Amino acid sequence: MAKEKILVVEDEEDILELMVFNLKKEGYTVHGCLTGEEGYRMAGHLIPDLILLDVMLPGMDGLTVLRKLKNEEKTKNIPVIMATARSEDSDVIVGLELGADDYITKPFSLKVLLARVRAVFRRASAGTEEKDNARVLNAGPLIIDSVRRKVEGIEDDSSLTATEFDILFFLARKPGWVFSRNQIINGVKGGDYPVTDRSVDVQIVSLRKKLGVHGGLIKTVRGVGYSFQETEE
Ligand code: CA
Repeated sequence: MAKEKILVVEDEEDILELMVFNLKKEGYTVHGCLTGEEGYRMAGHLIPDLILLDVMLPGMDGLTVLRKLKNEEKTKNIPVIMATARSEDSDVIVGLELGADDYITKPFSLKVLLARVRAVFRRASAGTEEKDNARVLNAGPLIIDSVRRKVEGIEDDSSLTATEFDILFFLARKPGWVFSRNQIINGVKGGDYPVTDRSVDVQIVSLRKKLGVHGGLIKTVRGVGYSFQETEE
């Protein structure tokens, strides 16, 4: 199998070197660069399998790079993991809405970095698209059937409102992915769909309650949004 190609865009030279060194050690083909302009240009001709993109870059910042990549046919499907500082939750939300696949918070350990990278490749090879179109999901202890609108594995699935069901299905289609409230609002279409951030929160509280012992499957990601985990911690 060909080695996956990763592009790392990071303006702090020692961090860049460390990331490139360790990803190479894992067997990936790695290219690094120090500016957004260069990252954007290299992405266009390398077409890497993954981009690790720092958000805070001098000149063209990471979100601008991301927006430009997602606007172009040849680069729009390249998975992107953003690297952000802890205080930049709003950047994470914007990035996810622009189409970033994941994010890591600086400072991150190499273990976390490598785990996220592997997770993106695993999702890519598991055929996320198939799951995107699936109508029945095996979601940890639950079986969610979007045609019959049934949830097996909970006490009383008839108690779920249409919107609660839609939110559950939307999140469970991509386990482990973090969605902002806006993405949830846009992803869920139906009669009484929520229209504000606050109403998403209210729906989630109610949904968790109805999932009973499995309520913990829906995780709150502080400052960012929500995510469905296939295993309960
Ligand atoms: Ca930086």
